[in-house]
Amino acid sequence: MTEHQNPDSGIHPLMQADLDNFAGLAEMVSQWAAAFTSGVDAMKVANTSDQKLTDISVANSGKGFAVAMSAFLQQIAPHLSASAGPRYWGFVTGGANPAAQLGDWLTSTIDQNVGSPGDSIATAVELQTIQWLLQMVELPSSFMGVLTTGATASNLLGLTCGRQYAGLQQQVDIAEEGLAKVSIEVFSATPHASTVKCLSMVGLGRKSWRPVACLADSEAMDVADLARQLEASDCPGKIVVASTGTVTGNDFDNLHAVADLCEQHQAWLHVDAAFGLFSRLLERMRHESDGLERADSITSDAHKWLNVPYDCGLFFTRHPDLLQQSCSADAAYLHTESELPSFMNLGIENSRRFRALPLWMSLQAYGAEGVRHMVNANCLQARQLANWLESSEHFDLLKPCRMNVVVFRPRQKDAKEVAEFMRTTNESGEVYLTPGIWQGQAAIRAAFSNWRTTGEDVDRVCRLLERLALGC
Ligand SMILES: *Cc1c(COP(=O)(O)O)cnc(C)c1O
Repeated sequence: MTEHQNPDSGIHPLMQADLDNFAGLAEMVSQWAAAFTSGVDAMKVANTSDQKLTDISVANSGKGFAVAMSAFLQQIAPHLSASAGPRYWGFVTGGANPAAQLGDWLTSTIDQNVGSPGDSIATAVELQTIQWLLQMVELPSSFMGVLTTGATASNLLGLTCGRQYAGLQQQVDIAEEGLAKVSIEVFSATPHASTVKCLSMVGLGRKSWRPVACLADSEAMDVADLARQLEASDCPGKIVVASTGTVTGNDFDNLHAVADLCEQHQAWLHVDAAFGLFSRLLERMRHESDGLERADSITSDAHKWLNVPYDCGLFFTRHPDLLQQSCSADAAYLHTESELPSFMNLGIENSRRFRALPLWMSLQAYGAEGVRHMVNANCLQARQLANWLESSEHFDLLKPCRMNVVVFRPRQKDAKEVAEFMRTTNESGEVYLTPGIWQGQAAIRAAFSNWRTTGEDVDRVCRLLERLALGC
């Protein structure tokens, strides 16, 4: 028997059967997905109890896709959250708009690897998507960008570039030599938890963070305190991490003032604009992020306010050379002849999902105007909830609503009672809220970032909150 006749060298029979019946199976998935998408607003918003999966062994042989699908329908589907729906207001979640969702199906189907160019148009699509985004948020084309798995990965890249910059100031190429011979301090007022995590991962350590004071009733940096601290520091390497829209207070750092100080002290300026970046599409908010163009690196997210499916983050920098020094992966089998960048040399992963496509489809389908409409609508919904809370005798609005997040608590309740109220609210299945801390006190956050939320959803939740506050 020759090798090619050996039945073991062919396609597995179950995979062959699924391939033969692919159109039918795809139809089955497509029908389920359509029903899920159209019905997501009627679902219980969150499943708050822990679910156990049936423990089966995978050591035995499988039974093909149709059987796997029925296991999904029985064991998984009933216990999902409606995080894609209109009343999931926890964290800053975002949904997946129709074009983005369908674009993501295409991404999985065509399964392109966007590590390096030379075999398909995918790299050019990612490049064009980045250029569109820069235009949309009015950042100069001198920025280079790369799509990441999320804002955490983007913060990691920002700190990696800042680290490389601070090393070169000390005549050390950290990408080659490591961190042993350098000192670097990181100044920030309200870094996102992911930034602190990334300080650990890039080898600077969480303790390299020098907390900068905040302005009164705000998470924004007190620039005078930053000036004092930079002045007092004798550390030769400095990174400043500023915020464009903090996660609880939606506060914006004064970027021109911060950038002036960074220039004066030769500090790297990284700005976390995970969702605040898109406030630049609103005329009334545009000035809040003035000076962003002076950042050395910028983090943002597409899976939050651009409403494309997970995972999709954005990273921009004016110094792609520093990014490349840290991220380049050299091996003979990776070389290409292309003029286009190898995105594998500008980020964490070598093999990369074609995550630009859902974004590209979404921007084609709805344009910057579609994004602007959604961002504006979400801000109006947040203001509607804030106004209602402010007029209610049962709740305290803890901070005037500035963008898309509302921070509040039931009146005269301690931390435990606030947590209990939130749990009861979430168990109703009508809305999902997550906790926060405002000025040291337990709070509840409601974050609006979904394309299908409406003012009626806000009305519905206000009625629910009123009912729960009255204890009936
Ligand atoms: C959500 C968020 C992050 C982390 O983003 P992921 O997409 O969850 O990795 C970082 N910074 C800010 C301000 C955020 O809101």
